[in-house]
Amino acid sequence: MYKNFKNIEKIVFGRGAFSQLGEIIEPIRTQNNRYFVYIVDNYFKDKTLAQKLQNLPEDLVYFIDVDPYEPTTEQVDTLRDDILTKRGLPSGVIGIGGGSIMDIAKAVSLMLTNSGSSVLYQGLNLIKNPGVYHLGIPTISGTGAEVSMTAVLTGPEKKLGLKCEYTVFNQVILDPELTATVPIDKWFYTGMDTYIHCIESEQGINKNAFSSAYAQQAIQLCEEVYLNEKSGKTPENDDKLMVASLMGALSLTYSEVGVCHAISYGLSKILGYKHCFANCIIFQHLEDIYPEGVKKFKTMVEKNQIQLPQGLSKEWNEDTITAMATVSYNLPFMWRHAFGENYQNIATLEYIKNLFRRL
Ligand code: NAD
Ligand code: ZN
Repeated sequence: MYKNFKNIEKIVFGRGAFSQLGEIIEPIRTQNNRYFVYIVDNYFKDKTLAQKLQNLPEDLVYFIDVDPYEPTTEQVDTLRDDILTKRGLPSGVIGIGGGSIMDIAKAVSLMLTNSGSSVLYQGLNLIKNPGVYHLGIPTISGTGAEVSMTAVLTGPEKKLGLKCEYTVFNQVILDPELTATVPIDKWFYTGMDTYIHCIESEQGINKNAFSSAYAQQAIQLCEEVYLNEKSGKTPENDDKLMVASLMGALSLTYSEVGVCHAISYGLSKILGYKHCFANCIIFQHLEDIYPEGVKKFKTMVEKNQIQLPQGLSKEWNEDTITAMATVSYNLPFMWRHAFGENYQNIATLEYIKNLFRRL
């Protein structure tokens, strides 16, 4: 069976496209209780963007600090309850921020129409009712959360997405101007998530002409942004990275991620490392698995003067390593993609623990 995946319904791309937000949501305002919920990265609270939200007095605006931890089921449930108590069902939800805000906005839109805790819906196709209209506006490029079919949440048991067709945004606004203020380290880590998505998508049994076309184009864009003579954080490269992010995610949607992401989930779930930073810490040590990709990655690290932590595993005891490896081990579809049908002979718990010991 081939994947029959849902794509974003509408996309607008271009510098200044953010100014079209008010006009885009105008026709949707007739739905439900005729107001919008804005979920905005707290970084923008005292920036000019906060004055340009094109919101009406009846709209609810939440500024959320995404730095302390990755989005949680509890956070989404609390937000949903607050919204419904204050104004009832909104016309739609708008997320403005990075991957964390994209995931919170997607999850809240679903949880407004599905009762109980979001913990109940962590997994594939568990959501029963379509959410309200939701619109994503990324302000940092790389995770591809703006296009993916999942809203990744950390719950009491699992770090797992609400994954289904209803999760996909109805509309995204891709305005590279919004990424101008991203600091160099975050620009690097999050952009490298795209690069790693593509390398992993390309190297595995789920690869196909569709996933490959997107991966190869996105890899080329990443090299222009981080490696070639015109590399660096320039407006032109911000445009390219925003497109690469979308393409990288489309590539992995039609293929799969691999070893780096499997290990990354363990590191994030047990020790709370952020997704993109965790990927960078891990990927540098996977030269035997992804030789070409890791070699270029290391050159990009050097060229952009990024310092990645070394020797982390020295601080970890056996129990921590086992806990992380168990999370990673329980992502068989990633190991299968990376190592083939006989992946169980390679990706044993001990093998995975040894990958953690490299870090
Ligand atoms: P993020 O949303 O966590 O933000 C990273 C940092 O960048 C924050 O400090 C934020 O305030 C700051 N920031 C964002 N935009 C900025 C701007 N324009 N100027 C200055 N600072 C800005 O970062 P991320 O790396 O995009 O997202 C990580 C999250 O995405 C994780 O929770 C991960 O699980 C999730 N994720 C989801 C998917 C998916 O398909 N749904 C895929 C990969 C990762
Ligand atoms: Zn990723």
